[in-house]
Amino acid sequence: MVLIFSAPSGAGKSTLVNHLLAQRDDLEFSISATTRAPRGQEQDGREYYFLTPEEFERRIAAGEFLEYENVYAGTWYGTLRSEIERIEQAGHHVVFDVDVQGGAHLKQLFGDKARAFFIAPPSVEELRKRLIGRATDSPEKIEERVAKAAQELTFAPRFDRVIVNDDLAQAEAEVEREVRDFLS
Ligand code: ADP
Ligand code: 5GP
Repeated sequence: MVLIFSAPSGAGKSTLVNHLLAQRDDLEFSISATTRAPRGQEQDGREYYFLTPEEFERRIAAGEFLEYENVYAGTWYGTLRSEIERIEQAGHHVVFDVDVQGGAHLKQLFGDKARAFFIAPPSVEELRKRLIGRATDSPEKIEERVAKAAQELTFAPRFDRVIVNDDLAQAEAEVEREVRDFLS
């Protein structure tokens, strides 16, 4: 089975996914490839496989991606087929953290094998506040992400569940309950 999590950047998707992964030992995170630079404490092969644009292109040409997107101007992100094989071989369910377009695409590919969650912020203003508070992106990158959010919110109807991440503890409990229902 696969669980898909998508959201405008800053909505709290990583926070919710990390909480979920800490609660259950039958789930495993699909590590995406990206051409962006590591941020903060991020390590190659843990949060992402950090690739050069040349290496990313080589892997596109070799058909190694299940899906890939140019999420922000000039920055590529993609799901490697080898990740899904690795996780299935370990006997775990796959957890995807992808942008809204990638999430809608993966839901189409996996159909009933997938439950797709759209994590929504209470408002775009709160989204900006969270990105500023996270302090991992430059003011330009934050504005780029906020500017994209309105369009990203229009993808919500393509997902199985919309979870508004207002009160964090409540959203965490809702995600846990929904995942438990789906997998049982
Ligand atoms: P995303 O993965 O969607 O980009 P993050 O999980 O990194 O977002 O969250 C963005 C910031 O907002 C982080 O600093 C996080 O601690 C904070 N945050 C997450 N959920 C909430 C919430 N419900 N209320 C307030 N702050 C939150
Ligand atoms: P960040 O740079 O904040 O880690 O991620 C930016 C966006 O790219 C997030 O919405 C994240 O979910 C998305 N993303 C990460 N990996 C993938 C992937 O493999 N495919 C797609 N389509 N989006 C991804």
